[in-house]
Amino acid sequence: MATLFIADLHLDDSRPQITRLFEDFLASDEARSADAVYILGDLVEAWIGDDDDAELPARIARATHALRDRGVPVYFMVGNRDFLLGEDFARRAGFTLLDDGTVHDLYGRPTLLMHGDVLCTDDIAYQTVRKQVRTPEWKAQILAMPLEARRAFAAKARQDSKAHTGSTMETIMDVNAEAVADSMRKAGVTRLIHGHTHRPATHRFELDGQPAERIVLGDWYEHGSVLRVAPEGTELRGLALG
Ligand code: MN
Repeated sequence: MATLFIADLHLDDSRPQITRLFEDFLASDEARSADAVYILGDLVEAWIGDDDDAELPARIARATHALRDRGVPVYFMVGNRDFLLGEDFARRAGFTLLDDGTVHDLYGRPTLLMHGDVLCTDDIAYQTVRKQVRTPEWKAQILAMPLEARRAFAAKARQDSKAHTGSTMETIMDVNAEAVADSMRKAGVTRLIHGHTHRPATHRFELDGQPAERIVLGDWYEHGSVLRVAPEGTELRGLALG
């Protein structure tokens, strides 16, 4: 019995070996025998809409659907790179969309699941942009653009993001401890799993006198990263390139 979590794969045509690693992971005995597989956002480097006719979305849909067809539920939560992903693609890919901040019971322990970007409250510039681009109006406006225009727009957004990341202090881009405590308190949990910061770790601390933990998933730039949650405990590990 085990449930698997991944996030921040940032799949992109420029790193085909990572796309293959993702496909191999979903086709592995470990994934096929899992109780469920969760993808907590930033599966791709950029998502321009469910109507994207490129090869990468088609490969993703095939891989996740094949796992679903073997009876393993696949859950997906959008991140800041793929927040334009919607129900159309979810149906095509055979996965269930989860809202950021969903609580799922994992072997008797309620666990808060987030992408993680909303916890980075010290990054005011980022949070301002986030609020703006997540409105239904903004999303509708972008999705009404022709695919080619959206591709160009996404490339520009990635450049802006790189510039921001390069010029912002590391501590500002990490999660804020109070935001973490608030979210966990509101959700009534002592365990949180998220990605986004690319700082894989298991943080153990006290929350209102209770032992609590925050597990941060790793990115898939140099290799993979998987969290395995089982009744007997959790294991966060790297996945070597085949
Ligand atoms: Mn992210």
